[in-house]
Amino acid sequence: MFVRPYYGVNIHTDAQGEYGSVLHSNDVFPDLPVINSATILNTAENIQAVILDAYAEGRILPDELIRRVSEMTFDKLVIKTTTATVKSDLELIRQIKLARPGCYVITAGQTSADLKTWITANTDIDQVITEPMDKYFYRLVYGTDGTIDDMPTPDYTLVNYKAYTDDSGRVRLTLLASRSCPMKCSYCPYIKYYGDYEPRDTDKVLDDVRTLVSLGAEVIQFRDQFFTCNKDRIRDLCQRMIDENIKVSWICETKLSSLDEDLVDLMKKAGLMLVCFGVESGNTEILEAYNSNKGELSDQIAKVKMLRDKGILTMAFYIIGFPEDTWESVYDTYKCAETIGSDIVNFNEYTTFYFEDKDSLTPDVFCQFANSTNIDMSASLSREEIRYAIDLFSTMYTAGHDCLEKAYTYNHKLMNAYKENVRRILMCDNDLYRLSEMLRDRT
Ligand code: SF4
Repeated sequence: MFVRPYYGVNIHTDAQGEYGSVLHSNDVFPDLPVINSATILNTAENIQAVILDAYAEGRILPDELIRRVSEMTFDKLVIKTTTATVKSDLELIRQIKLARPGCYVITAGQTSADLKTWITANTDIDQVITEPMDKYFYRLVYGTDGTIDDMPTPDYTLVNYKAYTDDSGRVRLTLLASRSCPMKCSYCPYIKYYGDYEPRDTDKVLDDVRTLVSLGAEVIQFRDQFFTCNKDRIRDLCQRMIDENIKVSWICETKLSSLDEDLVDLMKKAGLMLVCFGVESGNTEILEAYNSNKGELSDQIAKVKMLRDKGILTMAFYIIGFPEDTWESVYDTYKCAETIGSDIVNFNEYTTFYFEDKDSLTPDVFCQFANSTNIDMSASLSREEIRYAIDLFSTMYTAGHDCLEKAYTYNHKLMNAYKENVRRILMCDNDLYRLSEMLRDRT
């Protein structure tokens, strides 16, 4: 049985190479590797895998989750940990083991892979999976390594998938048309975990799309790190979606320099609604230091304009607080964001997931309910200063591109509510029963 817990903060648990990422919105993402893993296990005759996803079941609180798990029949329990919740995940497992002595528990995800030494020495967790979980379960079932083409279409019927909605309430399911990335930016958590870039056979991707559309997906988000890495593949996929008259809106993440007008026209005709892309920094020396080649500014500006002219939304990612960042360079990054002018921006705190000595890591290295580790990286800026810049830039951008009222609502009011929520959760001191009561009283 796979269990995906919820602790009062919305987490996209397969983001950041399965380290997970805190969301400040209410949209709910599926955990695709969990669904893939259960789907693979169910292809074996003697295994029946089920998923209890607290998010999909109306955000089951931890005390109720512990009660339900302790009453269910299963042989093994798999819980994927995330950086933002690892302390709560470990406490949840401890409580499940108290409620159900002898229960065999496996953890998965990059966070517990990094913490394997600590988990083995300090908990009674029975097994830690240190590779992508779908690869592990494929080998368990078939006795051999599986490629991305060997993976079956994710069986979304294993969960209440209609609960996976975007901020407009549309059913949004996720897929992989490829995994990993050939670009090799030295801070990237995806390539650290997934290794070499793997494209999925277009026939299989098309099967996956058909299946999700038949289930009622209104939006498909391709979780590929570099969707248009091979343009011919994507041309083929889009043309076949058009020929089959598949009606679905979709989202992808890619490198802007890989887009050209003909390709974008085809993608748009096939349902493309949003392109996400990384710019990361406005300082080319910093990008070069991390082997991060996101393309020329002039090209990024032109591509965003082209996408906008064709009615496609754009979302850009920026990183604030690289070790080399200064007040000047982070402001350059903000000005770069302004110049590129995407519809949506996402400023994130720089954090490293490349640990020199994993054996000495403890859960304290990960900030609770935040998207970073506790390791201070910047030589010039404190964590407080980096977070100030992120809040300020987010507000300035929203005010400039939308309006001041929206900046007040999203960047001040909702952000303060989120911070207050986290403050109250942290006050529960990882007591999951107290936390559940507090969250229940609030609703
Ligand atoms: S381009 Fe993005 S996905 Fe690719 S290596 Fe760099 S950070 Fe990772």
